[in-house]
Amino acid sequence: MAASSHLMFNRLSIRYKLLVLLGVSLGVGLLISSAVALYTTFVAEQQASLRTLRQVAAVTSENMRAALAFRDGHSAQKILHSLQADPHIQYAVALDERGSVLAQYQAASISADRATRWHKLLLQPSALQQHMDREFHYVIYPIELEGSPVGRLAVLSDNQAMYTKMRRYMVLQIGVTVLIFAGLLLLSWRLQLIFTQPITQLVQGMRHIGSSKDYSTTLHTDRTDEFGELYQGFNAMLREVRVRDEKLSHLATTDPLTGLANRRFALETMQTLAAQSERNQTPLGVILLDVDHFKLVNDTYGHPVGDLILQQVAHRLQASIRTDDIAARFGGEEFLVLCADTDVPTAVQVAERIRTVVAEQVFTTPQGATLRVTVSLGVQASITTPEAMMQLVEAADQALYCAKQAGRNRVVAHTEGAA
Ligand code: GH3
Ligand code: MG
Ligand code: MG
Repeated sequence: MAASSHLMFNRLSIRYKLLVLLGVSLGVGLLISSAVALYTTFVAEQQASLRTLRQVAAVTSENMRAALAFRDGHSAQKILHSLQADPHIQYAVALDERGSVLAQYQAASISADRATRWHKLLLQPSALQQHMDREFHYVIYPIELEGSPVGRLAVLSDNQAMYTKMRRYMVLQIGVTVLIFAGLLLLSWRLQLIFTQPITQLVQGMRHIGSSKDYSTTLHTDRTDEFGELYQGFNAMLREVRVRDEKLSHLATTDPLTGLANRRFALETMQTLAAQSERNQTPLGVILLDVDHFKLVNDTYGHPVGDLILQQVAHRLQASIRTDDIAARFGGEEFLVLCADTDVPTAVQVAERIRTVVAEQVFTTPQGATLRVTVSLGVQASITTPEAMMQLVEAADQALYCAKQAGRNRVVAHTEGAA
């Protein structure tokens, strides 16, 4: 039972957890304070009842003095009878100094049995001056004449008046407590929002980012407390994710030596361009470029210089094409250029421009030596599809082979049947 309610509590959202905690604390607090208030009121009411009865006894015994002095039972009886004005007074008896009954009174509503019981109770020697019982309370008051006792008066009253008052007080107390509890619970609902709203918003934001993978979002709050800090931290983390995403995608798509697109990215992009070619029925131009006698460059100047030359060739290549064209490092010293919506003559023009730019470039090694390199280029362009696009690359490769065969430093367009 305890375990299952613990489990249920754990399943609640923070909002309802807070409300349960606040509700329980308020409930227990109010219950304890109500119980204390009720108890103290009850004790005070008991005291007040005894005090009131004592006053009645005092007045009555004052009136009784003369009757007692003259042992006038008739007058004493009349005086006692006047007690019927208070319907709660159930029984009264006046005794002389020797303890003989001079007069007695009993309310009409009580039985003879009960009157006898009370009579005995009031007359027993151990009877207290005053006593509060569950159903009744009584007072025994001395009757004095010029300072000396001439008898005593015992008055007994039921507790109905006190209980009626207590019942009214209890109803009022419960009503007020319930109202206070409801009011405080309402206030708690408002107050818990201060804590739960930012958390709820943060969780909603997180869920949205989690499902949409849109890390460009930032979560806004005007809070300056720890919640504000939490939002700032979350936004900072989002920024970091964005930066890392960009770095990662850059790493995954770029060739580290030349900064051009890598082979993987070139083929991915080619898929898109091939689909576009198919859709628009426009040719896709492909240029495959290979540096001539590059092994010789490496052998002569060393591999690091070879790397520098590759970087500069890449730079020249990038500078020679349109921004819409894609240049990629396709292999060791082999590059691929993709030109959307480009036919063979135009692709040949682009290839020729690249060839000229590279050929005219004088490269300088860090050691101060100057050298030139040339490139051979194979070209093919046609309407294609993502499925057939590799045929374009193969055709360009065949054309490149032809360019090498024909003596290098030249552009060759693919022709059907060329090997
Ligand atoms: P060809 O004119 O027939 O293309 O002759 P080649 O020497 O360029 O052809 P080959 O394929 O025999 O040599 C290519 C050379 O390119 C061999 C390889 O060491 C070099 N190479 C490939 N990748 C890199 C690189 O990243 N850096 C350097 N420095 N050299 C590379
Ligand atoms: Mg090669
Ligand atoms: Mg080569």
